[in-house]
Amino acid sequence: MRITFPHMGNSYIAISSLLKELGLDVVVPPPCSKRTLELGTRYSPEFVCLPFKINLGNYLEAMDRGAEAILMAGGWGPCRFGYYAQVERDILQDLGRKFNMVIIEAPDSQLPSLLNQVRQLGIKTSWFHVWSAIRLAWEKLKAVDRLEALQHYWLPRVIDKNRCERMIDAGLRAVDRCDELREIAAVVDKVDRDLSGLGRDADNNDLIRIGLVGEIYTLLEPFANYHLERQLGRMGVEIVRDVTLTQWVNDHLLGGFLRSAPSLHATLNLAKPYLRYWVGGHGRETVASTVSYARRELDGVIQVAPLTCMPEIVAQSVLERVQEEEGIPVMTMYFDEHAGEVGIITRLEAFLDMIRWRKMKTGDTNAKNLSRSRCWFCQH
Ligand code: SF4
Repeated sequence: MRITFPHMGNSYIAISSLLKELGLDVVVPPPCSKRTLELGTRYSPEFVCLPFKINLGNYLEAMDRGAEAILMAGGWGPCRFGYYAQVERDILQDLGRKFNMVIIEAPDSQLPSLLNQVRQLGIKTSWFHVWSAIRLAWEKLKAVDRLEALQHYWLPRVIDKNRCERMIDAGLRAVDRCDELREIAAVVDKVDRDLSGLGRDADNNDLIRIGLVGEIYTLLEPFANYHLERQLGRMGVEIVRDVTLTQWVNDHLLGGFLRSAPSLHATLNLAKPYLRYWVGGHGRETVASTVSYARRELDGVIQVAPLTCMPEIVAQSVLERVQEEEGIPVMTMYFDEHAGEVGIITRLEAFLDMIRWRKMKTGDTNAKNLSRSRCWFCQH
């Protein structure tokens, strides 16, 4: 059985490693592209959220490369994700495609239950081998997070930004190829050393630090957010992003059990004065991280989400209060298939100009003081 799965940023590196180590024949979909989105949009309901459309395009492209089965996560709660797999399956069947859909429910904190579901894929291997495969995939996930963090740090600081991006991309490809645990850390260490050897941009002393929050797919898939992190890095902005692949696995599959891995469990309490309930997706994390970024004295926050994303609309409705009370400027950006790169860059430039102006006016990079200064556009 040749199996495929949807893309979400660089998660394919760990997912394909896990499935291959478990003895499955894996078809990784081609990287998300305009063609992927066009295919997905053509066959999706018009108002469904952007990740659904890109997922559907991923499946169609993977099937054209011989995929016979789809591995998809299930879900529940007050948003559309719980219906993704079932609706995608119906659409593909209506298109006459022959395939199996394997839906893995992600049970919060119940790893044994998840492992049993994985075994239902027809994997005939020992538990020891399953454990080795998981360890290799976990180390790759950690390496992906480390490489992305290196990009956040170095891209705004170096002169040769093209070379910086090429080094990160080469590091990701090398991690993807690793078969041994010990090779993985060595790859990341080498990228780290190479990046620190690049010439520094002396003109960018007063670095702006922006926290990213929002819906996880739009945060992690560069195609869905029009390469927002690289755009900002090239504009001299250091990114801080609390939502990562290892954080998601630790919080949602392991209940925050791993002390050495990132977790948002403790941070969620920060959302309570503004949003007391779980609203689905990453709505509560969005509010909690915005408060956390304000208290870490970042210069601003950008919330990203697909157009019509319900949890993020709820979060956005309380972010105005968070902005005022915690003293941090927040901008929300919604993405769909009609978004245009020029418009996105214009909005980013305007937001960064406003932050620079505030920094200059107050001569104080403390976020609370900055946000009390007047808005550049409306002078309020
Ligand atoms: S979290 Fe938002 S984008 Fe994701 S499925 Fe729910 S509504 Fe759609």
